[in-house]
Amino acid sequence: MMLDYHSLLLALGVSAACLMVTLFGTWFSRRTDSFLLTLVVALFLIVSGIFAYSSYTIETGILRVSIAYAFLMAGFCTTYAAAVQFRTGTKPWKLSVALSLVTIAAGVPLMLAGLDGLGLIVMNIATASLLIGTAWQYVAARQEAPGPLCGMAILYTLSGISFALCAVVLIGDGEWSLGHAPDNWAENLNIAVCIAGMTGIGSLSLALHQWRMAAYHRRDAMTDALTGLLNRRALFEQHGSRVLKASTAVIVFDIDRFKSINDRFGHAAGDLVLKIFAEDLTNSTKSPNTVARLGGEEFAMILDNVLPGRAERIANDINRRFAAREIAVGETVLRCTVSAGVAVGAIGGQPFETVLSLADKALYEAKRAGRDRVEVAEYLRPVHLPETRTSA
Ligand code: GH3
Ligand code: MG
Ligand code: MG
Repeated sequence: MMLDYHSLLLALGVSAACLMVTLFGTWFSRRTDSFLLTLVVALFLIVSGIFAYSSYTIETGILRVSIAYAFLMAGFCTTYAAAVQFRTGTKPWKLSVALSLVTIAAGVPLMLAGLDGLGLIVMNIATASLLIGTAWQYVAARQEAPGPLCGMAILYTLSGISFALCAVVLIGDGEWSLGHAPDNWAENLNIAVCIAGMTGIGSLSLALHQWRMAAYHRRDAMTDALTGLLNRRALFEQHGSRVLKASTAVIVFDIDRFKSINDRFGHAAGDLVLKIFAEDLTNSTKSPNTVARLGGEEFAMILDNVLPGRAERIANDINRRFAAREIAVGETVLRCTVSAGVAVGAIGGQPFETVLSLADKALYEAKRAGRDRVEVAEYLRPVHLPETRTSA
């Protein structure tokens, strides 16, 4: 009824190898999420360790168990490094190598000195710590994808506990020199938990990767590639269905005679001007306002919780600062100006699109009046509003 230990070990090795190939294929097709590649390296080391250990279960030998120990420790250290990389985005190799050297230095000398029982206790404790540490990294990063990440953390923790049990049983037996692979209930449980854990962790790692890619594409579809601002689609997705109160203002900006900048200085110079203006908009207020590129050289800003007249002042500040900028293009320095239209919502509420088109009309007036100026939509110049709120 019982599958023998050796077969289970081989099954574990084979399923780890399959997982390694799958993860490598997934990483290779995109090459963006390099934590997958780190996991592939970790699995490669673990698979090598499993096969070395498996050969040790058939034929004992100090060198075999030492090699197995070194590969397994390097593998689990790299698994931990992959989790740190996932959470922080830092390169994993230094951490992986440093931890591997420490854990190998802690155990291999014991093995070589014939204290293989003690060496295996060190290995089991180190592995349990690394796996629980790995679980902790994923718990700390759970915000990104709570389901898969907490699932992974649980599986890593269970695997870690099964290694800790192996250590406990070995310590209880108190044989520092075994001369052969340990064979007890904890070892069998450990293998079973690892087979189940590895399969689960493998599929959750893939799910996590898909989750990340989907989020990446969602963000990408919302962002204007040149300026990094929200694009028109994102602006309407976030604000399109809003009904704006009098305390919310919409400003539309349009760079003056932008076409002639392109014509005189080239398209790249035009792009530079757009980027600089986008930065100006982002840095113009401390409070987190929405700033979007509507298209071409047109931008929109949405200000919530503003007192009457504040949006106009902000628009004027932006215009003045931008007009004063000297933008270096090769040998020459160019200056340009921007016009703006401001509109606010209504006390009873006004659909976003209406306010936006009122701001657009005001912008048109600013252009007609000679450019380099700010116009406020006439219909509701907010002078005496009954309720005013303190600005944030
Ligand atoms: P006005 O003062 O009336 O706004 O004149 P304008 O020249 O700024 O307005 P117009 O709408 O005629 O020209 C806009 C130009 O912006 C036309 C187009 O070639 C250019 N443009 C649109 N998108 C980009 C872009 O991404 N990069 C660059 N460099 N130019 C762009
Ligand atoms: Mg223009
Ligand atoms: Mg325009």
